[in-house]
Amino acid sequence: MAIDKEKIRQAVRLFLEGIGEDPNREGLKETPERVARMWEEFEEKRDFDFKLFEEFGAYNEMVLVKDITVYSLCEHHLLPFFGKAHIAYIPDGIICGLSKLVRTVRAFSLRPQVQERLTNEIADFLNEQLNPKGVAVVLEMEHLCMSMRGVMSPGHLTITSALRGLFLNDLRTREEFLKLIGKISL
Ligand SMILES: [Zn+2]
Repeated sequence: MAIDKEKIRQAVRLFLEGIGEDPNREGLKETPERVARMWEEFEEKRDFDFKLFEEFGAYNEMVLVKDITVYSLCEHHLLPFFGKAHIAYIPDGIICGLSKLVRTVRAFSLRPQVQERLTNEIADFLNEQLNPKGVAVVLEMEHLCMSMRGVMSPGHLTITSALRGLFLNDLRTREEFLKLIGKISL
């Protein structure tokens, strides 16, 4: 997936005309270029080498990173949805740097997305890369396409989860995870 900056520039200019704006006015004349550069930046963040951060270790307990800030774009309206991701895995001989989990979230979020797919893609990617005993991903997001248009219902969160391996099959593991991210109290 390679971006075409010239196409983006042309499209943004046309879009601005389409909504009745003058793309040549002072505030807008650099906008097509800015948008093109922004998507170039997103593309750079999508490509990262997971293997570089991989380590082998003896740690076999749950690793959990919570409250990872996520920004993505809904593919239906190209408006942001944003919030927090909580990611856990139980290693089976391979652990990764914690920043790798944050980079994984960013790589899959900086593109047109739907929250359900984003959640699954993060879980499946980590499952493939780390081959762990289990992976759990929970996303809590506010969608601007629901807040500033349509139902105009700001502030509420959409929660999705993707559970693999032990998080799916073992109730105690799942409960520990939900307790640690503050979703249940035991
Ligand atoms: Zn939307």
